[in-house]
Amino acid sequence: MANQIWNGGGMCNINFIPQPIFEVKTIIDVTYLGFQAAMEGPVKGLIKKVKHKIGNPIGIYVVYTSGNDFAVSSGSTSPIGAGGVIIEDFRIKDDIPEFTLFGSIALSNRALNAPFTFAHEAGHVLLTELDKQPFNNIFKFNAIDPTGPFINPVTGNSDTAHSNLVGNLMAPILPNIIPTIDPLQLKKARMSRIFQNAIIK
Ligand SMILES: [Zn+2]
Repeated sequence: MANQIWNGGGMCNINFIPQPIFEVKTIIDVTYLGFQAAMEGPVKGLIKKVKHKIGNPIGIYVVYTSGNDFAVSSGSTSPIGAGGVIIEDFRIKDDIPEFTLFGSIALSNRALNAPFTFAHEAGHVLLTELDKQPFNNIFKFNAIDPTGPFINPVTGNSDTAHSNLVGNLMAPILPNIIPTIDPLQLKKARMSRIFQNAIIK
């Protein structure tokens, strides 16, 4: 399903290739964990461990968590998945930031019945960019959707990670029918560091 969407009708041909599944004894229950806490804490820890064990291959690592969904984050419904990046070997070389980027995704139980969740979370991975203006020498990585920001019609809040296009893959709430993807999203995703790293190594 993710390949069908991210192929963009042949315009993009981003192709996800499933890799072996590792069973671990660690159980991460996200019922009482917000998605940010989960991603920065136990999900990251587990991915780093497994990744190291298999020789740190570049890719998007998916953790299947326990629990139906994540704890409600302020003012929204319970998220069922989360997607982000793990940055390693960050350094400044000749004034240019260099780093290795891995994708990290966590899927709760309910995500397994929602066919577009992986494609959506993979979008967050591929659309994450380095903020080139460091603040106090700290570089940040931000998920920015080129068809956003999503403006919440109730609160008026702006959400740069999500699309403001109805029915789009990166809308904050996924439609029940196959979501659309915009050429701007395909173009930006193609430029993700994950592909450059994968070619170099
Ligand atoms: Zn999202």
